[in-house]
Amino acid sequence: MNKNNFGILYVVATPIGNMQDMSLRAIEVLKTVDCIVAEDTRHSQPLLRHFLITTPIIALHEHNEREKTKTLLERLEKGESIALISDAGTPLISDPGYYLVREARVAGIKTVPVPGACAAIAALSVAGLPTDRFVFEGFLPAKSGPRMQRLQALNNETRTMIFYESPHRILDLLEAMRTAWAPTRSAVIAREVTKLFETITSGTLEELINWVKSDTNQERGEMVVVVEGMKEDLLDTQETYHDMLVILLDALPLKQAVELVTKITGQKKNTVYNLALKISNNKPIIPD
Ligand code: SAM
Repeated sequence: MNKNNFGILYVVATPIGNMQDMSLRAIEVLKTVDCIVAEDTRHSQPLLRHFLITTPIIALHEHNEREKTKTLLERLEKGESIALISDAGTPLISDPGYYLVREARVAGIKTVPVPGACAAIAALSVAGLPTDRFVFEGFLPAKSGPRMQRLQALNNETRTMIFYESPHRILDLLEAMRTAWAPTRSAVIAREVTKLFETITSGTLEELINWVKSDTNQERGEMVVVVEGMKEDLLDTQETYHDMLVILLDALPLKQAVELVTKITGQKKNTVYNLALKISNNKPIIPD
């Protein structure tokens, strides 16, 4: 419960490219709070100047969040109001602020959202992929091994998946998805959303890889990748032949196991073969 004499912590979304996406309420809150806490004060200056906001601003980034939270909570407990913003979009969504908000709530300080742009939701809203159930995965690990593990863990995910990625890793990400899942899986790249060079491109993973390779401009700017989840009916089949493969691979060489499962299930040999490789590679090596 909020204690009356405490200030309020506002969590304020700012535009992800187009200044006109700033809400009237966001401007008002940022003008009237005692202080704005921003991820990068220099980065936020143009936005604040644009809307004639002169409120004092202090930095809160990944590396100083814990130490800064203490002083911010003291100010809130004294009755000051604070607005948290990030470089772009909604704070806490792949951005700093989680620790501050959590501690504020633990201390009984009221937290108020001022909603607005979020790249993940903007991309999902135009992707044309199912929106009834979706999962936000944010940035995957940059290193290929941990990234592949994460993708394999999402193998049976039936909800639409949303990923953030930096432009220089987009091809690696799409190629890893093609290996982990299927080249035919539908996906959408939402690039430079709300900005001059906004492009929303749909295709299979294979098509998107070819498209990015054929136009290096597609490796520039900011992007969200939205991927269709595994189809529910495929899930049952895949689980059945996955289990079959696990059993057969224990008793037979890979080639034979693949041939048998292909015959029994009618699945494509290539698909079964790729899964068999994955299962074999993930098996713990037991010394003789
Ligand atoms: N908090 C932000 C939000 O609400 O979307 C996300 C911050 S995260 C550090 C930055 C990532 O968000 C980028 O690498 C990109 O994946 C995505 N992003 C941000 N702005 C974008 C835009 N205008 N178009 C496409 N993706 C964007």
